Amino acid sequence: MKRRQFIQSGVVGGLALLFTKSFWAKSKEEVVLDDKALPTQRGVEGVLSPTNTHMVGNGFKVMNYYPNGKGFEERMSPFFLMDFNAEVNFPASDIAHGVGVHPHRGIETITFAFKGAVEHHDSKGNHGIIHPGDVQWMTAGAGVLHKEYHEQTFNRTGGAFEMLQLWLNLPKKHKMATPKYQSIVHAEKPRVVLENNMGEICIVAGEYSGVQGIASTFSPVQLWDMHLNEHADFNFQLPGNFNSGILVVDGSIIVNRKEVPENHYVQLKNEEGDIHIQAKKKCILLVLSGEPLNEPYVNYGPFVMNTEEEIRQAIQDYNAGKFGFLAD
Ligand code: MN
Repeated sequence: MKRRQFIQSGVVGGLALLFTKSFWAKSKEEVVLDDKALPTQRGVEGVLSPTNTHMVGNGFKVMNYYPNGKGFEERMSPFFLMDFNAEVNFPASDIAHGVGVHPHRGIETITFAFKGAVEHHDSKGNHGIIHPGDVQWMTAGAGVLHKEYHEQTFNRTGGAFEMLQLWLNLPKKHKMATPKYQSIVHAEKPRVVLENNMGEICIVAGEYSGVQGIASTFSPVQLWDMHLNEHADFNFQLPGNFNSGILVVDGSIIVNRKEVPENHYVQLKNEEGDIHIQAKKKCILLVLSGEPLNEPYVNYGPFVMNTEEEIRQAIQDYNAGKFGFLAD
C-alpha cells in the first residue's frame, strides 16, 4: 500500500456513537426459539449476521464485523477490529496475493489461520508462516511496517482459504510499547480436552479452567478457539464486566437458547452467568472477551491512538521513516 492510500482511506473515529436496535440485523435463517436466556444464564444482546465482503489488498476477502462505522469498537473494547475472511477458494496463481507494506501503531494485530497459509514479514526482522490452527500475534506498539501475503506454495496451488484478523487496542500506557512478534503454532496451544469426546478448547490468551493461555497481553483478555464435535453441550463462564462475544467460524450453535449459524457473531450482555453452548454440527468457534479500556481513542487508517495530536505524530514519524524499512 502506498503512503497516500492509507491516509486517504483513513477514518477518524472516536466519537461515542449511539447504540441502536437497528444494529442487530435479523438473519434469515434464524430459527425462532423461545430464546430468552434462563435466569442463571448470561443474556444474549444480539446476533450479527455476516456482512458484505471487501478486499484487503488482493488477498483477503473479508467481512468487517467491527468497527464498521457503528460504534462497535466501543462495545467490544479492547477489541477494535474484526475482519473475517470466511472460507473462499483462491485459484492457483503466479501473482502474489495479499497486502503490501503498511504501518501500524497503537495496536496489536492477531491473525488466525483456519484454512490455507499466510506469510508475514515486518520491519523488525520477524518472519512467520501460519497454517490452519496457527496464530500470529504482532504487537505494533510504537510502530512497525509489515506485509501479509498468501504463502508462496499455497498461492501457486490455490485452494480453500479462511483467515481472521483482530486488532486489539493497546491501553494508553502501552501505546508506545516495543514492537513484538509471537508465533503460536496450533499444536503448542495450551488446551482443555472436554469430557465425552465433545472436543477441545485452545487457550491463546487468558485462562480456561485453570489452564493459562500462551500469549502475553497488555490488558486482561480472554481469546480461545473452540473445536467442538456435533454433540457438544456444556457451560462455561467469562467475567461479567468483560466485553464478550463469540464468532461461529465453522458450524452452527445455540448459545443460551439463541440460534447462531455459521459466520454469525453473538454479542453477550455484560453480566455474570453461564454461557451454554450446544453444537449442532462440528464447529470452530472463536471466543473473545476483554476488560474494557474506557479510554478515548482516535483511529486513522492503521493507527489507533488516544488523541488527534498522537495521530499527527504517527503520520509524521511514519513519513520520516521512523517505523524502519521493509522491502515489498
Ligand atoms: Mn496489517
